[in-house]
Amino acid sequence: MKPKVFVEMASRVKNLPPYLFASIDKMKQEARAKGVDVIDMSIGDPDIPTPAHIVEAMKQAVEKPEHHRYPSYEGMLSFREGVAGWYRRRFGVTLDPKSEVLSLIGSKEGIGHLPLAFVEPGDTVLVPSPGYPVYPVSVLFAGGESYIMPLREENGFLPDFSSIPQSTLLKTRLMFLNYPNNPTSAVAPRKFYEEVINLADKYNIIVCHDAAYSEIYFGDEKPLSFMEVNGAKDVGIEFHSLSKTYNMTGWRIGFAVGNADVIAGLGKIKTNLDSGVFQAIQEASVVALNTDEKLLSGIRSTYRERRDVLYEGLRDIGIELEKPEASFYLWAKVPQGFDSAGFVIHLLEKTGVLATPGNGFGAPGEGYVRFALTVTAERTKEAVERIRKSL
Ligand SMILES: *Cc1c(COP(=O)(O)O)cnc(C)c1O
Repeated sequence: MKPKVFVEMASRVKNLPPYLFASIDKMKQEARAKGVDVIDMSIGDPDIPTPAHIVEAMKQAVEKPEHHRYPSYEGMLSFREGVAGWYRRRFGVTLDPKSEVLSLIGSKEGIGHLPLAFVEPGDTVLVPSPGYPVYPVSVLFAGGESYIMPLREENGFLPDFSSIPQSTLLKTRLMFLNYPNNPTSAVAPRKFYEEVINLADKYNIIVCHDAAYSEIYFGDEKPLSFMEVNGAKDVGIEFHSLSKTYNMTGWRIGFAVGNADVIAGLGKIKTNLDSGVFQAIQEASVVALNTDEKLLSGIRSTYRERRDVLYEGLRDIGIELEKPEASFYLWAKVPQGFDSAGFVIHLLEKTGVLATPGNGFGAPGEGYVRFALTVTAERTKEAVERIRKSL
């Protein structure tokens, strides 16, 4: 008889909810197999390629033998200086590249690992919902307990801190926030961040602000960094990524900045689990962080045009939604008679348009669907036409 182990998953894996995008991917494959021309607006992965000057910098960097060895754990100093320079130019924030900047293998990696540094079993972590699924999962892996902060339309999709019981706040170690927000596309005002800093200070809560979409905006008012609000560095850190800003999702590079003790804690976990980011990628990323503003504003215009097509198209059909000022998502109410999953299935079966069900980002997202602006304006128009005919 061949020996065979009985493979049983650990409870932290058994307790995982199904990964949202895996089941959507399956639906997409099935539709395509049936010959449906799928317009995929379900995943926030830019269809626009990485700008050529960044790819060129990578080609040169990859040839250098010094980059073929293990990188430093915290990131090359030149990369961390590049990040500090970017924060100074963009937000007027001063960072010490040595102690207040850390490279990440994509911000997802940093978010996923952060609770391991600070959360004891049984500790509470405040998690926004609907939200990026990695926040509650990272809490689960660290043995902590998520306290869900529902993001409701009547509050501008900001959490209502006054509804959180004092007993919960007293047990809270960490709070995740994300503005411009995925999936609701809401932007947070300075006043909100000031409230966050007061709360964090009062209850000794580490704030982790995820700013992945700070550079995808459409109006004259640029989204704020949490770090530019007085006192932020005393209570927390900000996660950032080159993925969405420079269309570099496949490259896997991001960074965390802010409170030196929090950065050091995350760094300690990472030193024991990974060995940093390929230096050639870091070198190309320094070039990316210095990208000409004109090029970035061109990318924003592309998203703005798509946003206008989709927003106006859906509104004219009678779908309720707000016009996003940032991020590349539209967060739309499902029409009467549908729930989130039902509407996504209706769209796929009747129109070939694939959206993401709002409840996949957490129960408070029920009643909504998310459309990503990651297909051309032409295809977006086509999507609107098909939806119009299906309703
Ligand atoms: C895309 C995304 C990220 C992850 O970006 P990577 O740097 O590619 O890992 C983080 N947070 C949110 C909210 C995102 O939508």
